[in-house]
Amino acid sequence: MPLHLFIHLSLAILAGGLIGRRWGKTELGVAAGLLGGFFIDLDHVLEYFLVFSPHFNLLYFLEGRQFLASGQVHSWFHAWEYAPILFLAAWLVRRRQEVMVFILALTIGGLVHLATDSIVNQYPLRNYSVLYRQSVGFAVEKLFSPQQYQDFLANKKYLDL
Ligand SMILES: [Zn+2]
Repeated sequence: MPLHLFIHLSLAILAGGLIGRRWGKTELGVAAGLLGGFFIDLDHVLEYFLVFSPHFNLLYFLEGRQFLASGQVHSWFHAWEYAPILFLAAWLVRRRQEVMVFILALTIGGLVHLATDSIVNQYPLRNYSVLYRQSVGFAVEKLFSPQQYQDFLANKKYLDL
């Protein structure tokens, strides 16, 4: 497993587990933490189908060809904006403790994931705002640093996309 994924997996379990344990629901917390902090990356699969549907090629997916071919990054699940909405939802359902714990662990797992992505990928925090990405047309050219964009173009050329 690549280190980046291993970090996401460990932090998702840790964050979810700690939230869950606070209310005596560790397993529920871990499950929700994994959903928000690890399986959040499934939006990369959705993005692949947006570009290459209906075909799927695992190697191409892992190479990130969906981003290279389109020059765009949507990553719909990766957004700070969901957190305040979800925190409000958790507060509204606070009497139904299981649901509240689930939402809290999901949200905090997601926030930890976004912070980790930002550090590991060396993208500014604003890149993890879906409204910001939308404001620049989801364009890689606007989202990446000049050096990152040069590397992106080199990779695109190398893969002949
Ligand atoms: Zn991610």
